[in-house]
Amino acid sequence: MTVREKGCAMNAAPKTLRRLSDLREAGLAPADKRAALERVAAQYAVAITPAMTELIDRADPRDPIARQFVPDAAELGVRPEETSDPIGDRAHSPVAGIVHRYPDRVLLKLTPLCAVYCRFCFRRAMIGPGVKPLTPSALGAALAYVAAHPEIWEVILTGGDPLVLSARRLGQAISRLAAIDHVKVIRLHTRVPVADPARVTPELLRALKASGKATYVVLHANHARELTAAAREACARIVDAGIPMLSQSVLLDGVNDDPQALGALMRALVECRIKPYYLHHGDLAPGTAHLRTSIEHGQKLVRELRGRLSGLCQPSYVLDIPGGYGKSPIGPNYLTRDEAGGYRIEDFNGDLHCYPPPT
Ligand code: SF4
Repeated sequence: MTVREKGCAMNAAPKTLRRLSDLREAGLAPADKRAALERVAAQYAVAITPAMTELIDRADPRDPIARQFVPDAAELGVRPEETSDPIGDRAHSPVAGIVHRYPDRVLLKLTPLCAVYCRFCFRRAMIGPGVKPLTPSALGAALAYVAAHPEIWEVILTGGDPLVLSARRLGQAISRLAAIDHVKVIRLHTRVPVADPARVTPELLRALKASGKATYVVLHANHARELTAAAREACARIVDAGIPMLSQSVLLDGVNDDPQALGALMRALVECRIKPYYLHHGDLAPGTAHLRTSIEHGQKLVRELRGRLSGLCQPSYVLDIPGGYGKSPIGPNYLTRDEAGGYRIEDFNGDLHCYPPPT
């Protein structure tokens, strides 16, 4: 190797970590855990982008970024209640790529690939480079299904992560959806603005917009540290292009399951002009029990958010009912009936007040 080549190698751009050897080199695979991590990586996809790798504090054994992306031997322990399809996608999939669970909207899974692979992902058994992508003819059949169902008002592009597709391919899919008259809203669920902010280019923004249709981008972020300066700029480019942003977060043990971490995340999102939308209770995906909290703990956290933070910072705490029955809100209840037929309503300090019965 010449001096010049050596210099090139030393200055090589940081890469996405995909193999256990990459994790070893990056100091993210302890020697005593390697055999177990090999088994985890053989089962579930691994990818940690440079933007996320840079955020990991290796001195912290419970670093909230590492907990989300670095494989853990605990993933090998599968509980009886955990399944490969915890929210019942398959039961509602009339054609490949489509999930039609609710009357007025469908999911369209354009790609099984993601920029990063989250260790708690509820679709972890259905995504990754080992899963076959939607073929052009399957995409045609999925679009034909949407066109044949006039009740479908909204199409949610998910995956995988639709923003890993090239602007050209994504733009083509969005244009074909936009040509269906009854589809009025196109929503994209993505991790890309935080995981790989440089992908949010002017070409991608042009691809997201469809004349006469509303496009929404829903960012998946779980810790305030994910909203780096580059991520905030990427989100600003989306919002400045006229595309409203919402967020979804997953309640995760050791990541955001304390009032300070959860509050800081919600505030960071609102500062980026992103309205917190959903806080998901962890789904029963295989090998993810170590990242789930109890529902009671989630309700306590949500109650504390309501007391301390602006109304803009309040997501809806939801659970996807196992088996495919859809999402239900599981936040705390502030209203009860009293003996006189009226109500007791709890304020943000926990004090109860009376509200009269209907006259
Ligand atoms: S980005 Fe979304 S689909 Fe991809 S691994 Fe994470 S949670 Fe799953």
